[in-house]
Amino acid sequence: MTDTSIDVMNSTRMAELGRRVLRGGDISREEALWLFDLESSADIHDLLAWANRIREHFKGNKIHLCSIVNAKAGACSENCSFCAQSSFYQTGSPKYGFVDPEPVQEAADEARRNGVTAVGLVAAWKGLNEGPMLDEVCARVRELKASGKTRPDVSLGIIKSQRVADRLKEAGVECYGHNLESSRRFFPKTCTTHTYDDRLETIGYLKQAGIKICSGGIIGMGETREDRCDLAFSLKEIGANVVPINILNPIKGTPFEHNPPLPVLEILKTIACFRFILPRQEIMIAGGRTVNLREAQSMIFMAGASALMVGNYLTTLNQPVEKDLHMLKDLGLDPSWDSHGFTDQETGGCGCGDDQVETEAALA
Ligand code: SF4
Repeated sequence: MTDTSIDVMNSTRMAELGRRVLRGGDISREEALWLFDLESSADIHDLLAWANRIREHFKGNKIHLCSIVNAKAGACSENCSFCAQSSFYQTGSPKYGFVDPEPVQEAADEARRNGVTAVGLVAAWKGLNEGPMLDEVCARVRELKASGKTRPDVSLGIIKSQRVADRLKEAGVECYGHNLESSRRFFPKTCTTHTYDDRLETIGYLKQAGIKICSGGIIGMGETREDRCDLAFSLKEIGANVVPINILNPIKGTPFEHNPPLPVLEILKTIACFRFILPRQEIMIAGGRTVNLREAQSMIFMAGASALMVGNYLTTLNQPVEKDLHMLKDLGLDPSWDSHGFTDQETGGCGCGDDQVETEAALA
């Protein structure tokens, strides 16, 4: 078979999958794996074109913006291999206790000025139990909600009781960031101090409480394309509303310090494959964007992304918000959001973990 006939076959098969998704259908894991394994730049550009059509069909030209505040930094008891805030690694990352009201209100002011839908309070700890800390977290959430400036989201780690999730909901939390990070198969290579099932259990309590789920993962940790594919299907299964995709920004001092960067086309292809698998979700590009994509950042929307983490990450810098807003305007995309609410199927949210690496941390 000639290269030309293979190109035609690939193009025909991709168009068949793309049209099916546009009609409201699903692609199978086997079909998704075929997309993840596309190699030629011509095929990948074809894939991006379809992902862009799917984004436009389901999301229009709206781009959802979120930001985060590092509400409790460093000294985390967990050993996530990508994270600057783990107490297991010497990274020089800042350490401080739970945030006072003022920095949160400053973040809300900035979000309001820039049209950012949500501010997520992200804490570097294993999780949250009932007690004085939960009271303080709920107080910060109430203050943020009462300000009316932005939607208060949180990313507070593992939850072990329905009561904690219910209290967060009562305080005003609409969306909780809790990444699955990778496939169940690869997860133990990222963390051994808690399990994939701990994360799924937390998500179960949150959903039961009526809180929307912001859950995604990190790519570039050494996982295979099959791991990325399985992560996307797991996120579909749990009904994630917002799906943050973080790209590893290796932090000095962590086990992933020397991980090689993913090629830009591989990153864009991954985003596009996620859009095929998760056509209606808010797919948000979060940590590692600037350092890994550089001049190709604007291509994320053509690859199917519909949301953006703006402002600085937990422990690393992002490009200025003004630059992101300019980029959206140049592309004819609309970052304005008419309310603090979610769209019919999604939410917006911080992603925790999102930064992960870039800083990241956490989110756990
Ligand atoms: S990702 Fe979250 S849970 Fe893991 S070490 Fe970092 S702050 Fe702790």
